[in-house]
Amino acid sequence: MNSYESLATPGVQGLQPYQPGKPESALKRESGLDTIIKLASNENPLGPDPLICSRLPALLAELGRYPDGTGFELKQLLADRLSVKPEQITLGNGSNDILELVARVFLQPGREAVMSRHAFAIYQLATQAVGADYVLASPTDGVNGPVYGHDLQAIRELVNDKTALVFIANPNNPTGTYLSSFWLKDFIDSLPQQTICVLDEAYFEYVKASDYSTALDWLDECPNLMVTRTFSKAYGMAGLRIGYSVSSIDVAELLNRVRQPFNVNSLALAAAQLALLDDAHLNAGISLNTKGLLQLAEGLEALGLAVIPSVGNFISCNLARSVQPVYQALLNRGVIVRPIENYDMPGYIRTTVGTTSEIDYFLNALELTLRA
Ligand SMILES: *Cc1c(COP(=O)(O)O)cnc(C)c1O
Repeated sequence: MNSYESLATPGVQGLQPYQPGKPESALKRESGLDTIIKLASNENPLGPDPLICSRLPALLAELGRYPDGTGFELKQLLADRLSVKPEQITLGNGSNDILELVARVFLQPGREAVMSRHAFAIYQLATQAVGADYVLASPTDGVNGPVYGHDLQAIRELVNDKTALVFIANPNNPTGTYLSSFWLKDFIDSLPQQTICVLDEAYFEYVKASDYSTALDWLDECPNLMVTRTFSKAYGMAGLRIGYSVSSIDVAELLNRVRQPFNVNSLALAAAQLALLDDAHLNAGISLNTKGLLQLAEGLEALGLAVIPSVGNFISCNLARSVQPVYQALLNRGVIVRPIENYDMPGYIRTTVGTTSEIDYFLNALELTLRA
């Protein structure tokens, strides 16, 4: 063990680093396989808009300059699109950056953040890293909501005068479950003013459910609400690292105090602006996902596996057996999925919606693996 561990802050000593999906290049190196299908990190199988790719090379000559640290143009464009003020927007090096900023601004030892037991892992990590306590609410049980879903009542009951933040992902990763806007608005209204609700809408573009809506419309009414979004998923730009939050101007100014002055790189800023000007690619990805989600869910069910109904670009299913051997066997066939034991969901894997042929390939590999 590293002898410096005892010198690290207590929060860092207790920290288990985030476990990312296995990179394609790592499996290529290890297996020597030519064809790798990565369905492990909820990436968009279409990648970024080709229009963006054609424009970026012209920007390379400017890389000697610092980016615009205020993100002026992108914030203007976003503000216009979202009908908010540019001052309400904070840009991040991925929305992950924003989640850490909000933790640094509002959390410290003695303060708490409340979240659902099977919520996105970064909420716990960001909370622990600054020495605050995370408090986990039990999920819905399959009777009063989808199994493993967010139980708003259970979350609300854990909020007390130490609770600085409540993290909610809608839809949630890794469960793919969502909250109806009716109940969610009610929940946010019920929170004390000093508790900020961080509402993570990383996957909102994909949701078709009629009782779902973005929480952006509630910002004027709810000063303790903050909505985070990303260009990593539906916009297919995970490698560029850019996301943002929309909050009250007050909160945005606080986030701004602790963020790195140049936290978003210039290529990401330019690409995000281009992405917002062309909905065709975004919509193609969403349509592909709608079809693929159905194909994936039906294929898994046909193999006798129980899936958690998902509205995102991924789906989690119960293998009802030890996951590691199945994960390994899939790797041997060139397919990378995501075991989610670390989300306290043993027996489950999460699979990203790929292209039609990627899903076919995965389902076939899974069938062979389960039969073996
Ligand atoms: C993928 C994901 C993010 C986005 O992360 P980025 O840092 O923007 O790439 C945020 N929240 C959830 C729930 C996610 O699954």
